Amino acid sequence: MAKVTLYDPEDLEYELPGVCMVCGHDATTYKARKFAWNPGWVYILLLAGLLPFIIVALLMTKRMTVDVPLCGRHRHHWLARQGLVLGSFFGLIALLFLVGALAPPRDVGVWIGLVMLFGFIGWLVLAIVVNLGMIRPTQITEDMITLQSVSDEFKTALKEWRREADERDQEREERDRREPPRRRRNEEDRGRYRDEFEEDRPRRPRDEYRAEEP
Ligand SMILES: [Zn+2]
Repeated sequence: MAKVTLYDPEDLEYELPGVCMVCGHDATTYKARKFAWNPGWVYILLLAGLLPFIIVALLMTKRMTVDVPLCGRHRHHWLARQGLVLGSFFGLIALLFLVGALAPPRDVGVWIGLVMLFGFIGWLVLAIVVNLGMIRPTQITEDMITLQSVSDEFKTALKEWRREADERDQEREERDRREPPRRRRNEEDRGRYRDEFEEDRPRRPRDEYRAEEP
């Protein structure tokens, strides 16, 4: 598992290599994923109560959309994990009802208490483990996002991708240096003058054309 930082991923021309961010196989799709992140200190406000926490969290939340490359197996990477956490929570509630119905009436309170305690601890552990394995942001600012739990293969592919882009930039710079910039500027100017000339060419009014027709 690796960590990558993406700069300006919402730029229209931004593109990531076609390598699955989860497993490193060839990507078959790009999924627009809106990531949300809160600075860590916001969670301290939970001590002050749920409402202050929710208000500040909503104000401080930073969001960024990334077109994430994914393979066929992982195209539902987030949905599957969130479904598991949510589904097991409802499963736990269903289990409580079941225990309430089946336990001997005298001990029903004890049974429900035990299921709630161990069920909730189990569910919490599951939620944490699932969350750790999920691609998630560890920082979002105005123009960058850091993503945690991406595949090592994706990180390597991204490095290669950037190196190639740098090389292309360098080649372009070298070409600019080799070719005398003055000549190119002249050509551009000529083009501009020609356009202007064509624009400014006097046109005969339509009426004149009509008058000449037999
Ligand atoms: Zn994959």
